[in-house]
Amino acid sequence: MYHAKNRGGDAYEFFEGDMHERIEKQLQLDHVLRTGFLEDRFSLVFQPIIDIKNKSSELFEVLLHFSHPDFPNVSPAEFIPLAETTGLIRPIGQFVIRNALLHLHALDNQGDARYSLTINLSPRQLQDETFVGFLHDQLKDYRISPGRIILEITENSLMENNSRIEKILEQIRELGCLIAIDDFGTGFSSLSYLRRFEVDILKIDQSFIQRVPDDEADSNLIRGIINMARELGIVVIAEGVEKKEQYDFLIENGCDMAQGFYFSKPVKAEHVYNNKINY
Ligand code: C2E
Ligand code: MG
Ligand code: MG
Repeated sequence: MYHAKNRGGDAYEFFEGDMHERIEKQLQLDHVLRTGFLEDRFSLVFQPIIDIKNKSSELFEVLLHFSHPDFPNVSPAEFIPLAETTGLIRPIGQFVIRNALLHLHALDNQGDARYSLTINLSPRQLQDETFVGFLHDQLKDYRISPGRIILEITENSLMENNSRIEKILEQIRELGCLIAIDDFGTGFSSLSYLRRFEVDILKIDQSFIQRVPDDEADSNLIRGIINMARELGIVVIAEGVEKKEQYDFLIENGCDMAQGFYFSKPVKAEHVYNNKINY
């Protein structure tokens, strides 16, 4: 059933031999994640997002990290979708918000309060009616002004349950946090949501960035996105910048911000303050 649902629903799937193996693996991972949560195996890392014009980086994306000897390189891209189906996303999501704000609060105490964070939200978190209240309380507890927090959502989560999501996004805006579209260009959606939801930031998916400047179609697409966003007053962040040629292309075409291994890998909280960035 879940395989059919993952294909977008309205479909059927036959049970096959390798599914059994995959399900076993998922059950094992689910168990490891649940016990890992109690054993403090989750932590946060921070990837700088570069302001291309000012050559500065005061914005960081918060990324979840899971450390376990049996699953050494398991990415959130693998375990977040699983946590969504099992409900574990709720405590994990709260952990991310609480700890991200706690780290920001600690940085505030260490120096000036110039840093801002982008935090990823999965579709199910956006369905949770207690989410905005929780975020509000945490912002208050850590004395963080809401404008320093950007919530990243994907295009696909906008499509899931439109009126409910619309309400939650409105509440997030009322609270004063900003909204970014993550992995822009990979989802199925109509661009009209850019107007309807008052999006602040578009993050161009790394799959497009990978192929510039050699691929003409992708290069044109990125130029188009940058120009469209500028007309709409939306800030553009390029994701997954790994090479100098890609960075040069973005500078040349007036992209606002960028992140990727070229500048810096995600770092632990204690390195945010003195992280060396390759501009
Ligand atoms: P994302 O939000 O698009 O995050 C960017 C991913 O690309 C991260 O992978 C990051 O480590 C990786 N990345 C950054 N720069 C480069 C680069 O130059 N090249 C390449 N190849 N990759 C780069 P990560 O940490 O494995 O996260 C994967 C996805 O998991 C994220 O994609 C996001 O959708 C999700 N995720 C991560 N943390 C959280 C979280 O706290 N909550 C939720 N709901 N989802 C999260
Ligand atoms: Mg993201
Ligand atoms: Mg992304």
